[in-house]
Amino acid sequence: MSKTYFLDPFGCAKNQVDAETLMAYLNDAGWVSTFSPEEADIVIVNSCGFIEAAKRESINAVLEHKRNGKRIVLAGCLVERYAKDLFESLTEADVIFGNKDLSKIASAADAALHGARMQLIPLPTDDNVRKNRPLLSLPGSAYVKITEGCNNHCSFCSIPLIRGGLKSRKIEDIIDECQTLLDRGIKELCLVGQDIAAFGMDSSSRQLLLTLLEALFCLNGNFWVRLLYLHPDHFPPILDFLKKNGGGRFLPYFDIPFQHASKSLLQKMNRKGCAEDYLALLDRIRDALPSSVIRSTFLLGFPGETDADMETLFDFQEKARLDWAGCFTYSREENTPANSMKPHVPKRVAERRRSLVQEKQTVITEKQLDRFMGQKFDVLVEEEVDDGLYLGRMFAQAPEVDGAVVVHADTALRFGSFVSCKITARAGFDLTAECIL
Ligand code: SF4
Repeated sequence: MSKTYFLDPFGCAKNQVDAETLMAYLNDAGWVSTFSPEEADIVIVNSCGFIEAAKRESINAVLEHKRNGKRIVLAGCLVERYAKDLFESLTEADVIFGNKDLSKIASAADAALHGARMQLIPLPTDDNVRKNRPLLSLPGSAYVKITEGCNNHCSFCSIPLIRGGLKSRKIEDIIDECQTLLDRGIKELCLVGQDIAAFGMDSSSRQLLLTLLEALFCLNGNFWVRLLYLHPDHFPPILDFLKKNGGGRFLPYFDIPFQHASKSLLQKMNRKGCAEDYLALLDRIRDALPSSVIRSTFLLGFPGETDADMETLFDFQEKARLDWAGCFTYSREENTPANSMKPHVPKRVAERRRSLVQEKQTVITEKQLDRFMGQKFDVLVEEEVDDGLYLGRMFAQAPEVDGAVVVHADTALRFGSFVSCKITARAGFDLTAECIL
């Protein structure tokens, strides 16, 4: 009788790769995954420990599964940050498992199944990613984690406390993983890390993202490479290469978290940029790649943020004309430098500023999307929503965070494949298209 588990994933794309890797090791050890917790012998909560709201969400999941009588392994970033406190206080979590060596998960699962209550916090291992793993993304797409940890130490961020300093994976390991994924029919490789712009800076003190892209250029096949999380203060020297070799594979899509535009506030965040620097970077990118799509992130309510800082940000938004932006309110995180900074911005003020920036961005995003009207693009088909009606994404839309393309097709489309489409309309952040076969 096989042992069964349900994996409950939380957090970011990097943590999703960890969840997939956990599943690969469990499956190797004879465990079988289920689609619902009810069917499973044990539940593995792969937690997020980044900010208050995310921590609460992971802990509530543990409490919920325990209420349903499940044996629980609590894994992930929350454990890396609070292992001892969790073991002492969250008794609902039977086994507490750290994420530095995911290959040890089967021991934790067996212990939970046999009624143990314990902590298992493995020491770091070299390459903590399984290239051949179940994928939790929609068909045709996969996240490829190229770095772990971060050396930027933004004053509000707990990631370096959780994931440690920057550790870049070996290029040959990444290429090997990409080839394996392509052989499995994957069409989109999303390169992720806390800051992929810093790729290689730990091992060679120079940026190696260009070298990695050159190696990806040599692989055969029709597929996309998407770059997510590029720190604006050290944007890598990749534009000439993309201009020369972009041709459909390397998407002119850049996720560049600016966080704010006020120089004084960015300095307090331990970031070097300002509105002028960031506008100059956007000009450089758009000069090299005029069809570029830029996503960013803004953090509102950081200690000391003033109305003047907000005016600087609103003005920056006007000039930057970003395609997409996610807006978040600042979360006080212990052991981060910002935690002791003052004056605090009241939550309701932070929330009002967040919604003002988001409202302004919504108008800009819709205007930016209108430029695709009547044009033809490849769309990665992900799911069917009704007869002859499919959902997919074009180059300008990253998984999970941007809008989608609603595709009308007279013939059946294969999930995880590219189809050529003509954009016919926009509804909010989604585009509508006719399939051109
Ligand atoms: S770049 Fe800054 S915000 Fe991003 S993970 Fe690193 S320290 Fe955190």
